[in-house]
Amino acid sequence: MGAFIRWIQRAMMSKEARCKEEERCLELVRLMLDDQATKEDSEYVLKHIDGCYRCYDNYDLEKTIRKAVKSKTKNLEVSNEIVEEIKSKVPI
Ligand SMILES: [Zn+2]
Repeated sequence: MGAFIRWIQRAMMSKEARCKEEERCLELVRLMLDDQATKEDSEYVLKHIDGCYRCYDNYDLEKTIRKAVKSKTKNLEVSNEIVEEIKSKVPI
């Protein structure tokens, strides 16, 4: 339990701590998630977020946004299919 509390405290502290690389890192994170970053950039990001809670948070958020957008698009495709199916079954 003590170790867990220490972990929480450390996580909270590092979250408050500023990151000098945050802006640059976020830019690279976006490129990486859009498959536009170079191998070096991706490696840098992955290495950095491994030790930087703040940038990991940004990375996680960007990833979640993209996932949400993707799943929304998917749902749209599914409903289009359903619409087509209904259209083909219902004579107009
Ligand atoms: Zn950072």
